[in-house]
Amino acid sequence: MVNIGILSNQDVKRLVFSTSSGKYAIYTEKGKLTEIHLNDVVHISIEKNGVSIKGSDTDFGEFKQINIIGLDWQNTFKIRCISPDLKARTYEDNLLITQNSYYNHLQLINNIDIDNYIAGVVESEVGKSPPEEYFKLQAIICRTYALKNFTRHEADGFQLCDRVHCQAYHGYPTSKAIHKAAVETKDIVIVDSDINLINSAFYSNCGGQTANSEDVWINPLEYLKSTKDSFCLHENNAKWRKTITKSEWDNFLKQKGFQENDSTSDDCKYSFTQTSRLKNYSCGNVNVPLTEIRSSFGLKSAYFSITPIENNLLMFNGRGFGHGVGLCQEGAMKMAKSGFTYAQILHYYYKNVHIVSRTNLPFFKE
Ligand SMILES: [Zn+2]
Ligand SMILES: [Zn+2]
Repeated sequence: MVNIGILSNQDVKRLVFSTSSGKYAIYTEKGKLTEIHLNDVVHISIEKNGVSIKGSDTDFGEFKQINIIGLDWQNTFKIRCISPDLKARTYEDNLLITQNSYYNHLQLINNIDIDNYIAGVVESEVGKSPPEEYFKLQAIICRTYALKNFTRHEADGFQLCDRVHCQAYHGYPTSKAIHKAAVETKDIVIVDSDINLINSAFYSNCGGQTANSEDVWINPLEYLKSTKDSFCLHENNAKWRKTITKSEWDNFLKQKGFQENDSTSDDCKYSFTQTSRLKNYSCGNVNVPLTEIRSSFGLKSAYFSITPIENNLLMFNGRGFGHGVGLCQEGAMKMAKSGFTYAQILHYYYKNVHIVSRTNLPFFKE
């Protein structure tokens, strides 16, 4: 079981809980309160002395901790947040509620079987359309990521949040295929040659070549090495274009300390070519990381060339979408459609890794 902070970016003051399948019991710090059955509705809100809980005709009082625990084989519940007014969401397994006294709102934790959680993450991260084999590798990536980052929110009282900060998670997945993929890859994770969980980075499209981790972040990692990728070249996010004015570019270079009178820089100032990925834009006395140009101009990737066009404009011709480190999702989907297995695809993007059951990790380490 894992503890996921849900609606973690919302100032939740009041919500309605109902059972969608199975059966639930409510426990507080004083013991068992009641059982709730299908379509029973419970109102929960933050009050002066703690968390208030009310049934349709009973006021149960205020408590410090409310644990709503599933009693059947499969239990799903629905949360309809009233303040703020949010669309209802469905979740699997249990709900733990406390008062976050710092923000004076309800702190909601979905206590959930890790594979049920992984299925929810896969649907939130990639949608329902990819082929089944792709769901399996995305489940393995998301499981590896979750386990590697388990202590991230220790101070908040849960393990992972439901935002992109950890992994996007919007609750119970509606796709049966995704659920199946999470269960069929149960416990499978990716480890490096020292049998440590890898940083299973991914992004939309690499544009034909993935990036070295040290060119985008700081640390070099043996499994995050640049590699050519022919699978994503004709997918949706393979190419992009953006124009800016020359004066915007001049200002940017000036901020970086570019000296105008340097005649050696005449050729390179407005033209720059990447046939394969580079780390920096170098011209005259400046040397700027491409990742910095990407963030300054809001570009889809750092894999671009620059050419001057008419009317004092510059054209960025770019390839790919995302940071480029690790697995290319559009390339991986194409491989899955072409019949490659999830293991073949993972080994294509992550170098020198092992795909193993985490229950065997102590054995491998030894
Ligand atoms: Zn987080
Ligand atoms: Zn790619």
